[in-house]
Amino acid sequence: MADTKNELTCPACGSKMEKVLIKHTGFNIDICLNGCGGIFFDNREFKYFDEKAENIKQIEKLTAGKEFIHASESLIRTCPACKSKMVKNYSSANKTIEIDECYICGGKFLDNQELQKIRAEYETEEDRSNAVIEAFVMSLPEVYANEVRQSGLLKGKINWDYVDTQRETLAIEEKIIDVEEFTSHE
Ligand SMILES: [Zn+2]
Ligand SMILES: [Zn+2]
Repeated sequence: MADTKNELTCPACGSKMEKVLIKHTGFNIDICLNGCGGIFFDNREFKYFDEKAENIKQIEKLTAGKEFIHASESLIRTCPACKSKMVKNYSSANKTIEIDECYICGGKFLDNQELQKIRAEYETEEDRSNAVIEAFVMSLPEVYANEVRQSGLLKGKINWDYVDTQRETLAIEEKIIDVEEFTSHE
């Protein structure tokens, strides 16, 4: 785990962030306790906190009832660990919560309360990954979407071979339609 040792500057409000040792994981996370309440997670740290069953008691104890300053969420932010530009991404297939991610070092920054919102979205890790599959299925044409649903894919791991076959069939049928349109105009 690439735990940052340096004191970090909050990418949202510019305050100095505080390192908090999370006892049950053994690593530090950086929280903007004297500014906006945002949290920075180093590469791979976030996955220990994003599910409902995981322990965030220490974080909640430090932030509960505190008045944090409001930070604009629309500005492009700079990664506090490696100074690269961060990218705004939805945290899940629900597309409701946008977080800032650094593609260079893998860091993630969450505004105040975003962690709690992300945790409230799904009951389990399985529900979360099923939502990703469902979002993919929804992007398919209706006829294939139904077929994928009936195949039971949503209950377990996605079968990429099956999906690739569907995509190939789809590509072939699109070509046939193109040809038919072309010939019907003659
Ligand atoms: Zn801040
Ligand atoms: Zn970075």
